Amino acid sequence: MYDITVIGAGITGTFIARELSKYDLSILLLDKENDVSNGTTKANSAIVHAGYDAVEGTLKAKFNVRGNDMFDQICRDLDVPFKRIGSLVTAFNDEEMETIRGLYQRGLNNGVPDMRILEKEEVLEMEANLKESIQGALYAKTGGIVGPWELAIALAENAVENGVKLELNSAVTAIEKGAVGYEVTAGNQIYQTKLVINCAGVYGDRIDQMVNEKSFEIMPNRGEYNLFDKSVGDMVNTVVFGCPSSAGKGTVILPTVHGNLLLGPSADPIDNREDTRTTFAGLTSINDHAKNTLREIGFHNVITSFSGIRAKVATQDFIIEKPKGKEDFINVAGIDSPGLTAAPAIAEYVVEMVKESGDALGLTFNEKEDFNPKRTPSIHFMELSPKEQKQLIEKDPSFGRIICRCEYITEGEIVDVIKRKAGATTLDGVKRRARPGSGRCQGGFCAPRVMEILARELDVDMKDVLKDGKGSYILTEQTK
Ligand SMILES: Cc1cc2nc3c(=O)[nH]c(=O)nc-3n(C[C@H](O)[C@H](O)[C@H](O)COP(=O)(O)OP(=O)(O)OC[C@H]3O[C@@H](n4cnc5c(N)ncnc54)[C@H](O)[C@@H]3O)c2cc1C
Repeated sequence: MYDITVIGAGITGTFIARELSKYDLSILLLDKENDVSNGTTKANSAIVHAGYDAVEGTLKAKFNVRGNDMFDQICRDLDVPFKRIGSLVTAFNDEEMETIRGLYQRGLNNGVPDMRILEKEEVLEMEANLKESIQGALYAKTGGIVGPWELAIALAENAVENGVKLELNSAVTAIEKGAVGYEVTAGNQIYQTKLVINCAGVYGDRIDQMVNEKSFEIMPNRGEYNLFDKSVGDMVNTVVFGCPSSAGKGTVILPTVHGNLLLGPSADPIDNREDTRTTFAGLTSINDHAKNTLREIGFHNVITSFSGIRAKVATQDFIIEKPKGKEDFINVAGIDSPGLTAAPAIAEYVVEMVKESGDALGLTFNEKEDFNPKRTPSIHFMELSPKEQKQLIEKDPSFGRIICRCEYITEGEIVDVIKRKAGATTLDGVKRRARPGSGRCQGGFCAPRVMEILARELDVDMKDVLKDGKGSYILTEQTK
């Protein structure tokens, strides 16, 4: 029997599992997909928000500000890219100036440090590519950018290194009350557990209703993006938000941690929780925003488009609670933006909730003496000095073979991410960890070679190598 079962290995579930792995408990982390971070966590704006957006007194406000503060340490420990580049909310007219003053005040109420309202000249000094018609902006120094899936993968790796059992391809289809705790049916297994933590993202309501009376419903909402080539990654230096309106936080233009330019998201309610299409209307709306904000932008530099689904709920706040009368079930649901930023603080809070249930469930919380907060750092060949590169190639010649010529990724790096705990098993899994296929050619040249390496290292047939999720076969049969 497991002490605790966490359902969902997105940023919320991996943070909670890793936080719980500090204690001498048996923890199970389940996900329906064939990789961690394959839900909303792999498709969002990647912003570590400062915290002026969320309405005062909400869980969003509380965990955004605390979560933001925790990012430096956690990303250092887990060797994850994070840059505190600051954020701007732009104002192009008097009404928008009024809005950003309101946001500034809300930020103060929420405890956001280091904010200022900037005059036109200061904004243009910071962001020379903004349109001359800019009137001012709200600047928040603590805003940042992170690698969202890199963080979730690193958390999963570190959690597994610290004893968490990760089971992928394990869709939870039923949760029954057992003699003690629950029996969770996932894949073709039944797991016994004393406590369940529901972190199932857009399926949070479905998991909840396997056990509890319906108390909330997820209303999926899609956000679409355009990602630009690195050649225009320096169009902006900070996270540049449009002014928020009743439709949402507004479209953003920002550099990514790897030096690309990201534009998006749109905001559209949808019915199908799996509908991650991009649409003409969605992409046009974000492109129009960029045209209205920047002096110039070349859409021929778009290298890919994608979308992510927000898990919205009617209250517009996170739902982090035990259903009435239950000590052995915790919902962590409705985690839409700023869920990525808030995740470390949510994990801290959920662990306290688990501790409060400890006596009732017979759980004791002894801190492990051998908990290791650091994960084995990844190798980034191109970031090494020529001397280090030479030494590495002498030790392992696979680091001398470049597989991805856009991002200069070596065979050694690809093998490393396949062999790691919670390692990659698909083409996109390798891409998310080591970045082959993330460059201008989007895998046109390197994909077949990465597939060969996957087939060899996993000892599977090339035909069985998947692009991403279940059933995403690339090859059908041999022709020559
Ligand atoms: C367009 C967009 C932009 C955003 N931008 C930002 C931003 O810039 N900054 C920020 O802080 N936040 C942002 N967010 C919010 C942030 O991305 C989410 O809050 C966060 O990723 C949610 O993580 P999660 O772990 O709760 O959900 P998910 O990442 O969706 O993880 C849930 C997991 O549960 C698994 N699962 C579901 N059902 C089952 C089942 N039956 N059995 C087993 N497993 C199951 C799924 O496979 C999935 O892996 C954005 C969101 C969107 C959509």
